[in-house]
Amino acid sequence: MDSTSTRIISAISRIGSVLRSGMWEFATGENLNPAQAEILQLLHSRVQGVRLSWVARQLSISAASASDSVSALAAKGLVRKARALDDGRATDLHLTEEGRQMAQRIAGATGFADEAVAKLSPQAQEQLLGGLLQVIGQLQKAERFPELRACLSCKHFQPNRHQDAAAPHHCGLVDAPLPVAMLRIDCPDHQPTDPVQQVTNWQALV
Ligand code: SF4
Repeated sequence: MDSTSTRIISAISRIGSVLRSGMWEFATGENLNPAQAEILQLLHSRVQGVRLSWVARQLSISAASASDSVSALAAKGLVRKARALDDGRATDLHLTEEGRQMAQRIAGATGFADEAVAKLSPQAQEQLLGGLLQVIGQLQKAERFPELRACLSCKHFQPNRHQDAAAPHHCGLVDAPLPVAMLRIDCPDHQPTDPVQQVTNWQALV
């Protein structure tokens, strides 16, 4: 019989397939290929532009493949390239207004999964999120997961600052307690902390 860890990975993999399938079905109808749809979603929450190399790392694809997809998106008027503010020789990628609207519609295409999770009790959702964050932490330790703008790698995150078991952590930026259910994995206000503090933060979830 499979171990529990094997069955968990199988479940995560099946859920990932269903989500991808829902997104791709929608994207195909919009004349986008899967990589193009994923790039639009990646850029959706980015106020500042991102480099092509970052996109390639996040999607685990080659720089050449990412470049082809970005060029196709630029030709469709969904992505624009601009000179990077922090390096005049580099190029940043941004969504155009049309790209932003498309990314919103793509996110709506997997709303069925959000509805399914929302039917779980608040406790079950919190446990699930905590468990998934721990898996991500282990994968990051093994250098198998791309960088995230997560609370657990943020310099504003203060682990176990409160006695309250329901909200033990704290966000120094907004100066408010952080229940596990509110931990972010893609926060626009994220600022990276040093690697030693990151390890301490991830351990706070164990
Ligand atoms: S909510 Fe944002 S700013 Fe606050 S700790 Fe989390 S990632 Fe950092």
